[in-house]
Amino acid sequence: MPELPEVETVVRGLREPLIGHKVLGVICTQPKTIRHADLASMTARLQGQKVIGITRRAKYILCQLSSGDLFIVHLGMSGRLYVVPDAAQRDSDRWAHLILQLDGGQQLRFSDPRRFGFAAVVSTFNELAPKIGPEPLSDDFTRAGFAEKLKRHHKAIKALLLDQSFIAGVGNIYADESLFRAKIRPLRRADSLRKAEIDRLYAAIRAVLEEAIARHGASINWYRKVDGTAGDAQDNFYVYGREGEPCLVCGTPIQKIVVGGRGTHFCPKCQK
Ligand SMILES: [Zn+2]
Repeated sequence: MPELPEVETVVRGLREPLIGHKVLGVICTQPKTIRHADLASMTARLQGQKVIGITRRAKYILCQLSSGDLFIVHLGMSGRLYVVPDAAQRDSDRWAHLILQLDGGQQLRFSDPRRFGFAAVVSTFNELAPKIGPEPLSDDFTRAGFAEKLKRHHKAIKALLLDQSFIAGVGNIYADESLFRAKIRPLRRADSLRKAEIDRLYAAIRAVLEEAIARHGASINWYRKVDGTAGDAQDNFYVYGREGEPCLVCGTPIQKIVVGGRGTHFCPKCQK
């Protein structure tokens, strides 16, 4: 699933081709792609609107429209979003169930074979996702606030990092990588972490996400950049997807367990 670095990369890639352009129409071949409205009401709120800005919140892509509304896309498990000329063809077009016709002979296509993603038009982000935690790369995410919140949770730290109301945008990949960098076992109870561990984890989350953004996200499955090319954050993974392979630090085979229903990778020697 695309996580914060992948979604951030898509947001950055969409700005140049999309900002300043007007939506002329909406084509939808899979009604479930649209949330909080039907095709007619989405079309009414999009048609004639110009995209004036594009930002990210958690794993959501927010396109600000000239009307003040937000056109929001969540990539789900397998979503791709790209702007191409009307006549252009890409392999992923087969699953492009939502297309915005733009001025200048361009289209914004949302392709999503597994259909866990969706699009919506709302007045405010809170209408769609009211309980999202702090952005880990923003000033809202403070070391002190993080430490304070950890004390109130008894569940496994890995499961807590996946909780979007605790911290925004972190998913399975970057939770595993952050815990490895912080030398913390994924099953440790959140409220058992000592000060030095909290400091390491706070720094690790930020470093792991920033490095992955610099590498344009991880293309281990469906995720691609707006221009169709792959990111290479996967080349920088220490534990994710490396079950049975030697730890890059100590050589011990990486183990895979299930925490909170999710496959979880860690080094039994480096992580305490
Ligand atoms: Zn190790």
